[in-house]
Amino acid sequence: MRFASLGSGSRGNALVVEVKQTRLLLDCGFGIKETVARLSRLALRPEDLAGILITHEHADHIGGAVRFARRFGLPVWLTHGTFTKLAFAQTLPDIRLIDGHSAFQADEIEVLPFHVPHDAREPVQYAFNSGSRRLAVLTDTGGSTPHIEAVLSGCDALVLECNHDSDMLRDGPYPPMLKQRVAGRFGHLDNSMAARLLASLDSSKLQHLIAAHLSEKNNTPELARAALSGVLSCDPEWIGVADQREGFDWRQIL
Ligand SMILES: [Zn+2]
Ligand SMILES: [Zn+2]
Repeated sequence: MRFASLGSGSRGNALVVEVKQTRLLLDCGFGIKETVARLSRLALRPEDLAGILITHEHADHIGGAVRFARRFGLPVWLTHGTFTKLAFAQTLPDIRLIDGHSAFQADEIEVLPFHVPHDAREPVQYAFNSGSRRLAVLTDTGGSTPHIEAVLSGCDALVLECNHDSDMLRDGPYPPMLKQRVAGRFGHLDNSMAARLLASLDSSKLQHLIAAHLSEKNNTPELARAALSGVLSCDPEWIGVADQREGFDWRQIL
């Protein structure tokens, strides 16, 4: 199993998970041309994808999803709530409605969705299983829950939201309403919340830890790395950071 990011942050998100010959795109927050260009950095073409998983209807996650799926005839997995909020969802070529509590098989990848508290209609995040290995991705959540911790605990690779530093958000340029939204119970994880969540997990198998969905105005890679490395007592440089422009290159789970 390996995975890579096309870009991560409030201006667009997409990640690829690969097991053998099956590749799934997790969210598609970039336009068609941009998605194709970013896939090519990973030596992938749209035809290499088995489909698109959607987490929720915010523009940074679905920006190009419907058009991309239509252009390349790809199935799209999403919750019913997200489906009802997705513009032009009826025009999708192959709609796969999911139950946010039930694992399903997408060719060679077992996909486990899980619900998160976030200000969208029916948001989920996903974990991916291939035999004995598990990758979990958690962004766009205002907090943790025992269920989230159960899904993430013991995984082999984790992509974890470190959206903002709470002091930088408080003192930063966002209008008060937006600050409240981002820091609220249905907003985004800040560095210290992500660190507390990480501390609650069994991290003994963790081969890769990547901080994701960093705010370009209210966080820095150094602060995110410092928060997470403090929990694992590891070198901060061991922790990857998914950035908006580059995402991150392939990471192999052994
Ligand atoms: Zn987002
Ligand atoms: Zn969101």
